[in-house]
Formats: sequence, structure tokens, C-alpha cells
Amino acid sequence: MDLNFTEEQLAVKEAAREFAEFELLPGVIERDEKEIFPAEQVKKMGEMGFLGMMVSPEYGGGGMDTVSYVLAMEEICKVDASCGVVMSVNNSLVCWGLEKYGTEEQKQKYLVPLAKGEVIGAFCLSEPEAGSDATHQRTTAEDKGDYYLLNGTKNWITNGNSASIYIVYAQTDKEKRHHGINAFIVEKDMPGFVIGKKEKKLGIRGSDTHSLMFTDVKVPKENRIGEDGFGFKLAMGVLNGGRIGIAAQALGIATGAFELALKYSKERKAFGVEISKHQAIAFKLSDMATAIEASRLLILQAANLKDDKKDFTKASAMAKLFASQTAMDVTIEAIQIHGGYGYVQEYHVERMMRDAKITQIYEGTSEIQKIVISRDLLK
Ligand SMILES: Cc1cc2nc3c(=O)[nH]c(=O)nc-3n(C[C@H](O)[C@H](O)[C@H](O)COP(=O)(O)OP(=O)(O)OC[C@H]3O[C@@H](n4cnc5c(N)ncnc54)[C@H](O)[C@@H]3O)c2cc1C
Repeated sequence: MDLNFTEEQLAVKEAAREFAEFELLPGVIERDEKEIFPAEQVKKMGEMGFLGMMVSPEYGGGGMDTVSYVLAMEEICKVDASCGVVMSVNNSLVCWGLEKYGTEEQKQKYLVPLAKGEVIGAFCLSEPEAGSDATHQRTTAEDKGDYYLLNGTKNWITNGNSASIYIVYAQTDKEKRHHGINAFIVEKDMPGFVIGKKEKKLGIRGSDTHSLMFTDVKVPKENRIGEDGFGFKLAMGVLNGGRIGIAAQALGIATGAFELALKYSKERKAFGVEISKHQAIAFKLSDMATAIEASRLLILQAANLKDDKKDFTKASAMAKLFASQTAMDVTIEAIQIHGGYGYVQEYHVERMMRDAKITQIYEGTSEIQKIVISRDLLK
């Protein structure tokens, strides 16, 4: 694995860092407190090419590699993990699958505006009774000849209200179990599609998470992605790649909290010296930095394997498992280093701790990552 970044990769990282500092930092506390979706910021992210980074320029994307993507994700999430999840879902869970498996017509109609960031997408797999066990789809898509009739409810959908294009998974043939699942491109204004309530969340409160209801929604047959019954394979494939993005989100949160804690420890005095001079604090910083570096290496390994078109299933699960635990550990210690100030909004680290928790839950919980890793080890 080559750890020397190219000039292009470093330029992307720097652009993301500047964007985060100048466009995301102002207002991040208010957006979290008031649960405001960062519409203006997401629009700018689209204009800067952050929403379709890995899509080929032929379809309006940046044509970049996964390494560039994780470098940018880390910088964005260092400051605002809510913007990070919008970026992650659009890039990994929506655009990637559409480019790889969509028809030319689907790509022209849907991928191009998504990759350019003119609209954003949503990935709709989870249901009230189907989370970790995504095979258990209750949403149905009845084959009616030239269209499918979609009925059911999806839960916890990121970009639920702000998206325009939704990749919806549904059961077409129950007898075939997960081989009967299909993925469909659903437009927001299709009759029978209703956006449900917005969730009030612990963290990533700027992102809009909604339930979605489908009642007799007529989805044209040409909106199915891939062959009949390909949906489950598509979902697992995009989640595999998506995990690298979420691992990078976790790394960004951890790095952001670490940098704040490091700076604070050199400024705050207790017992006549900067608190960084107390070994208990210095050792916390050592542990935090070591876990962050280990996370970064796991993430870069997974990204490199993906870019080299090698199997990255185990690597992406390891990266997400480790980086998300690191994000929790580091943010908790960052609060501790800040003492009482860590417990209040204006020092950022309390938000970062709340944001970190979701990285252990979505796109496969930590327990599910362990299943993926152990399956690979024991095969
Ligand atoms: C803020 C947020 C945003 C989300 N965004 C999206 C989105 O955009 N699209 C989407 O489709 N979904 C989304 N999700 C859903 C998310 O992916 C699921 O919540 C997650 O997969 C877990 O599913 P569940 O909540 O049903 O928990 P469950 O599957 O019910 O799991 C409950 C607990 O049991 C454990 N568990 C389950 N099965 C096993 C097992 N076999 N072995 C060991 N432990 C197990 C889990 O690890 C967990 O600890 C989002 C969720 C949240 C909270």
C-alpha cells in the first residue's frame, strides 16, 4: 500500500479542509441545536464536486479514487458530521450503485444530476422490522407488466425529505426470499409517496432522517436497477463500499475532537502548569493519537483495495468497526480533557461525541461488522 498521496489527492484534501473551515464551521452549533438541514452548505458541496466524487466525468462526477474520497470525508466530518453523512450517502450508496449497475438511460436521467450535486439521493433499505436483517423486507413491489406497484414503509432514511431521488428496496417475490428483492429508482413526486415524520436524534442532528410511506406507487419497469432479483446483492455491494465512507466519517469526528483537545490541553492551566504537562492528560493524548492513526491505516487499506478492484469486504468492515469505536473513545476523552467546558456546546466536543455514536450503528452495526469479519476469517 502506497502511503504517499498524489498531488491531486492532497489538493482534494486541502479543498475539503478549507471548505469545512470557512463554510461549515460557522453555524455548525446552531444547525445541531435547531436541527437545521444544511441546505446551503450541501448546495455548495455539490458545486465543489463533493457529492459525486468517484463518478466518471462522463456522468458529471469528479472521476476520483476512493482514497481522495476518504481524505475529503475526513476533513468535512472533522467539522460537521451531518454534512458528512449527506455526502456519504450520495456518493457511496446512491451514485456508486447507479453508475455500476444502472442502464444508460438511468444514468443520464438520474446519475448525472446526482453526481453534479444538483439534487441529492437517498438509500432506502431499512424498515421498522428490517434493520440488521435486511432480508426481511416487508415493502412489496408487485409486478404489473410495464410497472411495479410499490407498497410499504421505510425507516430511518437519511436525506429523507431533502432528497429528490430515492433508491428503494422491495420484495417482489416472497417465495424467493432475498433473491426476490429488487431495487427501484423512485422520484419524490410520484403519486402515493409520502414523507413521514422527521426523527429527533441524539447526534448528526443537521441531517434529516425520515420514515417514508409508499401506497400503490406506480414505478415504471425501466426504473428497476439490474436484473430481476438483483436488489439484495446491490444493497450488500453498495454497503460494502459505503462502510469505507462511514469509517472516514468516524475518523473525521475523532480527529476533530483530538485536535481540539490537544490545543486546549496546551492552553488550560491547572496546578500552575498547562494540563498537557500532567502525565495523565499526555497519556490520554497518546492513546487517542495512536487509535486515530490505526483507524486511518485501516481505512486507507480498504480504500486502496477498492481502488485496485480487489476484495475489500473484510477490510471495510474492520475499518468501520475500529474507526467507529475510536470515534467514541476519542470524543469521550476529548470531553474529559476539556473538563467542564467539554460538557457545553461552544467547545464542540460534546456534539462530536453525540455524532460519533451513529457510526457504530448505521450501514451495519458493530456487531454486524464482526459477523462480516468472522465469516471471512472462517470461510
Ligand atoms: C440516524 C440514522 C440514519 C440512518 N440512515 C439510513 C439510511 O439512509 N438508509 C437505510 O436504509 N437505513 C438507515 N438507517 C438504519 C440503520 O442502518 C439501522 O438502524 C441499522 O442497520 C440497525 O438496524 P435496527 O435499527 O433495526 O437494529 P436491529 O437490527 O434491530 O439491531 C438491534 C441490536 O441487535 C444487534 N443484532 C442484530 N442482529 C444481530 C446478530 N445477528 N448478531 C449479533 N447482534 C445482532 C444489533 O447489532 C443491535 O445492537 C439509519 C439509522 C439511523 C439511526
